[in-house]
Amino acid sequence: MADVFLQRKEDLRALPRWLGAAAASALAALALRLTPQLAPQLTPPWPTLLQTLSLCALLACLFGAWRAWLRSLAAQMAREQDWQQIINEAIEAMPAGFELWDRRDRLLLCNQALRRLYPSVAAELQPGVSLHTVLQKALQSGAIQDAVGNETRWLEQRLAERGSRREPLLQQYADRWFHVYEQRTPSGYVVGLRLDVTELIHAQQALATTQSQAHHDRQLMERAIDAMPAGIEIYDEQDRLVLVNQRMVNWLPHRNNAQAVGKDYEALVQSSWFDDLLPSDPEARKQARQLNRQALRGQQDLTLLNQTPGGLWLKTTETRTPEGFVLTVRQDVSDLIHKEQALKASQAQLKAIIGTAGVSILTLNDDGVILSCNPAVERLFGYARAEMVGSAISLLIPDQSGEVFGTACEVTARHKSGQLLTVQLALAAVPDQDDDLFVAVLSDITQRKQFEQELQVANARLLRLSTTDSLTDLANRRLLMDRLDDEWRRGLRSGLPLSLALIDVDHFKLYNDHYGHQAGDQCLARVAEVLRKSASRPADLVARYGGEEFVILLAQTDADGALAVATRCRELLRAANISHANSPQGGLLTFSIGLVTQVPKPGSHIGQWLALADQALYQAKAEGRDRAVAAQPAASS
Ligand code: GH3
Ligand code: MG
Ligand code: MG
Repeated sequence: MADVFLQRKEDLRALPRWLGAAAASALAALALRLTPQLAPQLTPPWPTLLQTLSLCALLACLFGAWRAWLRSLAAQMAREQDWQQIINEAIEAMPAGFELWDRRDRLLLCNQALRRLYPSVAAELQPGVSLHTVLQKALQSGAIQDAVGNETRWLEQRLAERGSRREPLLQQYADRWFHVYEQRTPSGYVVGLRLDVTELIHAQQALATTQSQAHHDRQLMERAIDAMPAGIEIYDEQDRLVLVNQRMVNWLPHRNNAQAVGKDYEALVQSSWFDDLLPSDPEARKQARQLNRQALRGQQDLTLLNQTPGGLWLKTTETRTPEGFVLTVRQDVSDLIHKEQALKASQAQLKAIIGTAGVSILTLNDDGVILSCNPAVERLFGYARAEMVGSAISLLIPDQSGEVFGTACEVTARHKSGQLLTVQLALAAVPDQDDDLFVAVLSDITQRKQFEQELQVANARLLRLSTTDSLTDLANRRLLMDRLDDEWRRGLRSGLPLSLALIDVDHFKLYNDHYGHQAGDQCLARVAEVLRKSASRPADLVARYGGEEFVILLAQTDADGALAVATRCRELLRAANISHANSPQGGLLTFSIGLVTQVPKPGSHIGQWLALADQALYQAKAEGRDRAVAAQPAASS
């Protein structure tokens, strides 16, 4: 290309030379024409010859000039062609779509890039085509997204603002995005440049989506943080407060969080912002601030406990994350603190109770080693606490055979002095422990035990007294009636006969009269002895019925058996040989016996039965005394 330019320059320079030479030749020819006057010395044919020669030279020069002019003309045309080509190539080489429209909006030229950008109108984009036609065609294809459904207005607007926009127009064409630059030149032509910015727009859209997602995520995170049951503050890596959650706002409502967010941690520590979360005591407050700063530097995890003006107990934990953020988590531990306080109070109460309790309380491990004891244990056993703690329980309770768990049991314990004690022991495993702690409660029942034994003896005596006749030591009438009742019912069930002997000393009034009342008593005791010997079966009961009357109750005994007992009574009395000087029966004491025997029947009564015995006794008296008379059994009649 450069060669062509140099060549054409050369050609242009040659023309004046040729014209100069032609002028010189013409001057020479003119001069020769005037020769005779100017050079009279020249003789023909020289003047003619020279004239011809100069004319020839003139012709040659004119020819040369003509050729040079022709060549320069050809060069200029070639140059214009070159420019056209250079511009065309340049336009084609552009990565953007290029277009040039004339004053009446007819296309002058455009590049292939433009046709590639607008494939649906590529065929129309030929020089001479009107913008209106191209736009119509583009609208028909439906590729201009902005215009779909709104074609007429879009077209009007597009033509109205043509060439006057300062800003590039962003246009969506099919699935591509273009920036359209349009400018009207001073001569009224319109130059357009269209850049495919699809990738850029997609990247922008992706960025916007990501940003919106990030925004959404952040909102979600903030809501989650707000909803957390803990108070949360977050500081960024430069220790500026980033976030305070809703819980925190609720707990400390008068704190100005809007002002605090964005502020430096250190500045907040210095300001009154933390005041409600610091102890009120100035020294403790200083210490807490110090700790705050240490936590801030990540030197240690900070855990603080404090009470807010609203009465809440907050436990604060500050941690620096690996990203350099400081995460402050505050938990409402009011419930825990209140429970702890209540527990402490009840523990103190329990301690006081155990300390002052009258019963002895010990704790033991599962090897039976004493772990603790209350003062009552010291009083009971005479050992000092230090002597007992760490020792085996066998120190106090030498014999531990038998089941000791559960209900209280009596065990024998030993005082330091060696004296044996009876103690009541209740042993229980402490629940919710590792099963190796036991509580033993001991109460001294030595005295009670002794008293109990005495009471038992007294009771036995009382019982005997209440059922025994004091003079004869026989069963008294009350015991007789009880036993009679029992045997009667037993007889009802068994169907076995029951017998009774009613014995009355004969002429005892006379005995008293003769020997005196005291001798009478002794006599009655001897009679009792006789009767006791007569009825020797374990089930037989000999009782003093009253005065000088006695009863022998013979369970499971028939009439023969009863008669045999009566006979033995009389024989043994005679053998006892008790004098009764005034007795009309002859000098010895006698008695009369009424016998009654019956199988108890439903409907029959003890009272009636005893009345039968009474009648039999009356009959024995009537028949002359010193005899036994059996009543006629009512059942058999
Ligand atoms: P009978 O042969 O009819 O039974 O004549 P009796 O004298 O035994 O009869 P009675 O019922 O008239 O007298 C009973 C006497 O027994 C009257 C009373 O002085 C005497 N007696 C009753 N109980 C006792 C007692 O505990 N000690 C003494 N010494 N005498 C008693
Ligand atoms: Mg009598
Ligand atoms: Mg009598």
